[in-house]
Amino acid sequence: MSTIFSQIVEGEIPARVVYEDETTLAFLDANPLAPGHTLVIPKDEYERLNDVPEDVATDLYDTIHRMVPAVEEAVDADATTVAFNNGEAAGQEVPHVHCHIVPRFEGDGGGPIHAVAG
Ligand code: C5P
Repeated sequence: MSTIFSQIVEGEIPARVVYEDETTLAFLDANPLAPGHTLVIPKDEYERLNDVPEDVATDLYDTIHRMVPAVEEAVDADATTVAFNNGEAAGQEVPHVHCHIVPRFEGDGGGPIHAVAG
């Protein structure tokens, strides 16, 4: 049984994709913590960062690096919280590595961890 994010990669369930290349995908979170909340994933399924091969990790970081300024600009954010919940005890609900890019605004009151606690 593939993860819900693999189903998004395969186009089996809809998502608002904002960037795609050979190995990575970025799409808007279905339950955004702030407007523009974006998830970046490797297309291949790895449960945790610990499982991601080095070349895929490099591609993943390249996409995150590209998406952070794009997300900030898209919603005119003052900053972003960029984080992985890596493992169930850390609050990871979907067992497919994903990076949260959460737009932040002066005075929004969210702490760095609460911003991705869902
Ligand atoms: O880090 P964690 O695993 O808790 O985050 C999962 C994220 O995936 C949540 O922010 C949730 O809103 C998002 N999600 C989604 N589309 C789905 C299922 C979950 O954007 N179909």
